[in-house]
Amino acid sequence: MDNILVIDDEEVVRDSCSQVLIKEGYQTETAGDGETGLQKIREVKPDLVLVDLKMPGVCGMEVLKKIRDIDPDIIAVVITGFATIDSAVESMKEGAYDFLPKPFTPDELRLIIKRGLEKRKLALEAATLREEKKRMEENFITMVSHELRTPLVDIQQYFEVILGGIVGEVAIKQKEMLERVRERIDALLKLIKDWLDMTRIKAGEVVKKFEPLDISFILKNAISFALPQAEMRKITLEIDAPSSLKKVKGDKESLKMIFTNLISNGIKFNHEGGSVLIKAKEQDDHIIIEVSDTGIGIIKEDLPFIFDEFFRVKSDKTRHISGTGLGLSIVKKIAEAHSGSIKVESELGKGSTFFVILPKFEKRSS
Ligand code: ADP
Repeated sequence: MDNILVIDDEEVVRDSCSQVLIKEGYQTETAGDGETGLQKIREVKPDLVLVDLKMPGVCGMEVLKKIRDIDPDIIAVVITGFATIDSAVESMKEGAYDFLPKPFTPDELRLIIKRGLEKRKLALEAATLREEKKRMEENFITMVSHELRTPLVDIQQYFEVILGGIVGEVAIKQKEMLERVRERIDALLKLIKDWLDMTRIKAGEVVKKFEPLDISFILKNAISFALPQAEMRKITLEIDAPSSLKKVKGDKESLKMIFTNLISNGIKFNHEGGSVLIKAKEQDDHIIIEVSDTGIGIIKEDLPFIFDEFFRVKSDKTRHISGTGLGLSIVKKIAEAHSGSIKVESELGKGSTFFVILPKFEKRSS
């Protein structure tokens, strides 16, 4: 049964409201002043509070403020004898749902109570659904990493042993097939890793620890990570990022993720013998990092979509390049979690430049 508390210093208002509300089947409590009202709110935790603005002692506006601290889901309706725009606006600012000017009819009271309680019900349902969704996502993440990733890693391990000839000689034909299976498993593991990274970033679990960071150190680190991939495709990696640059405010591991993704794309979508240049410079309150390549480029029509989840350009040039379509959406989410941004310029056949804009570390922002 919904519980309603009426706080008003006028006995006639308390009694008339009680009568109407009890008749409607609500459990009703009353209080003759703000202090008693607040005490009852703490004890009874009503669903809705009707509160007079003008009372001696603790006034209605103070009661409103305190209700928000006690339980922001309690619906507060203000009763006022002086319904001015100012008092209405102020009470709404303090969290009131609506207001009821005196004198009011039983019908007006019933209607406002009904609407207020409906709003509370919806808000509580939405909160329960949000909780439920969060719990399901967390369970799903755990399920994916344990039930899918772990056995795949084991399978990959067995393949290494077999392909290494440790448990007996493998015929050339068998080896070719097993290598193809291994490549597929690698691609599946990459998909699971990207998907898990993305889900964790969305859940706010990844970009957490902001500290002053030397961007040139992060970029050098990302380059050394990409070096084997670059050597395989004969791509030159160049860097122009003076260590004298101002520090950025960032999370080390996730920033590394941004640049390994961008450099890896610069290599993958490049021509053999091409190059990737990584440049960092200061601009106003920001550090701008450019990752440009001499690769295949992206057509204008596809550019608005490349940061979308699972989007991959479909063309003869990209068909044989493996990927998940999640890298750039991860990059964008990390940049945004840093209050930064990313943009791209590209010309088909000539190459692409990705610009990552990150805030500088200011002493007062720490
Ligand atoms: P993935 O690399 O796994 O396919 P991304 O999200 O990193 O996914 O990139 C999405 C798509 O954008 C790629 O499939 C590719 O078509 C295009 N793309 C990304 N980076 C580049 C680049 N440097 N040059 C050309 N195309 C690119």
